[in-house]
Amino acid sequence: MRGTSPLYRPQSAYNLLHLPLVGRLLRWRWGRLALQLPFFIVAALLLIDGFTGPQNAARNLATVAPWVQYRGLLILAVLLAGNLFCMACPFTLPRTLAKRFSLGERRFPKLLRNKWLAIGGLFVIFLLYEWLDLWASPWLTAWLIVAYFVAAFALEAFFKESPFCKYVCPLGSFNFVYGTLSPSQIAVKNADICGQCAGKECINGSYSPQTVIRLDTITLRDAAGTEQRYEQQVIHGPQGTPGCGTELFAPQIKSNLDCIYCLDCARACPHQNIGLFVRTPGRELLQPEAWPKRWDVSLLVICLAFMSVTNAFGMVPPVYALEQSLIDVFGFQSELPVLLLIFGVGNLLLPMGLALLAGTLSRTFTRSALSLRDTVAAFAPAFVPVGFSIWFAHYGFHFLIAPLSIIPVFQEFMGQPGDWALFSVALEGSLIGLIQVVALLGGLLWSLVIAQRAALRLYRRDGLIGLLPWAVLLLLLMLAALQIFSLPMEMRGTEAMFR
Ligand code: SF4
Ligand code: SF4
Repeated sequence: MRGTSPLYRPQSAYNLLHLPLVGRLLRWRWGRLALQLPFFIVAALLLIDGFTGPQNAARNLATVAPWVQYRGLLILAVLLAGNLFCMACPFTLPRTLAKRFSLGERRFPKLLRNKWLAIGGLFVIFLLYEWLDLWASPWLTAWLIVAYFVAAFALEAFFKESPFCKYVCPLGSFNFVYGTLSPSQIAVKNADICGQCAGKECINGSYSPQTVIRLDTITLRDAAGTEQRYEQQVIHGPQGTPGCGTELFAPQIKSNLDCIYCLDCARACPHQNIGLFVRTPGRELLQPEAWPKRWDVSLLVICLAFMSVTNAFGMVPPVYALEQSLIDVFGFQSELPVLLLIFGVGNLLLPMGLALLAGTLSRTFTRSALSLRDTVAAFAPAFVPVGFSIWFAHYGFHFLIAPLSIIPVFQEFMGQPGDWALFSVALEGSLIGLIQVVALLGGLLWSLVIAQRAALRLYRRDGLIGLLPWAVLLLLLMLAALQIFSLPMEMRGTEAMFR
């Protein structure tokens, strides 16, 4: 199964799998497990502290690690490197086990093989976060982690593909959408090899209960046009690797959407024909063929951008005034219906309604014959940078006001006194504000460029008028975010630093 063709023609010189040490670790058969195990241990520590530690959010690993540290680091990692958190995700450890015991032979129901569950999952998790004050409850956060493990195990173990990652997981959906901004992507080195590869192991895997040996004959032309042939032995067996769980076929990958960076494809490919290449960040946002023209995918991207605003709105004073007015008007007896109304409107109705309106207006203004679905799909990628920048401003704020808070929390978890004075360093409020404004304006600009390119592509000379409804929508989203970030925001989970 090992062996390298002398005729490889890598598309990019920067294949991260060729890096010394890191590349070897990533390509190693147990490479993903080696990354997942530390995160599994971290998850176990969070559970222990969440269930048995002090129920003070700012002094418990279960709340500080996920709600302050994890979100800030995730947003940086996805922007600067790629979907590293899915790569090391401990929740999917059961998939490897399930493959070994051949539990998962069923396909996920066809009706659910789309992003509607993901939109629902994101809606529910943000609603629960506010309703149950998850950030303030180590105990409930620990239960949420347990729920993640159970859901991931049940779905990964009993279905053939990875439905939890691809269709359900709110964290994964977030990473998929914003992973499209990343400067790295899975790609094949030489598409001609894929055309002659008999087993397509990158998607089918190289696992089988019994050992089976095959010989692939590959014919390629070198730079001078001379035909050369080589034979590659391919071994399937109990030591084999599963194929792509999210069912991406490596030679056809055009986007990071749905890629969890597990690198199973690279390990399974018998021709060592897959790399993790450095690329232009956000490349697929300007490539219409990289985006499926589907309502569920387009609305996932657009809803997530609106969720960034609603989520931040939940932490500034006007939300309480709004909640009180809704209670006065509708006579609600508890907080849940109030939040359902705010989140239902802000996270689902508004984004879906405004996307339909903007699409209808741009079609009407330009007398375009393109369907509404395809129009919305063409402009949906423009909501990625703007949405990301709002999440960045929000999660970055929580992270930067207490970047080292995890250290005294961990000291206390280990039974030592927490050195709060030493690790209370925080960035100046004005500097954080500046970072937020730069990120927000940069995101808006990037989004406008993408929307403008889409408008020119679709409407040519009428591009400007076709762009107008989308530009207004992006601008309104940004103005709402700027207004929210100009207000005092709750320092959830970090109060102990400021006592
Ligand atoms: S990436 Fe590898 S396994 Fe997949 S088709 Fe190409 S050569 Fe075959
Ligand atoms: S293409 Fe599939 S197998 Fe390869 S890294 Fe992405 S998710 Fe994993």
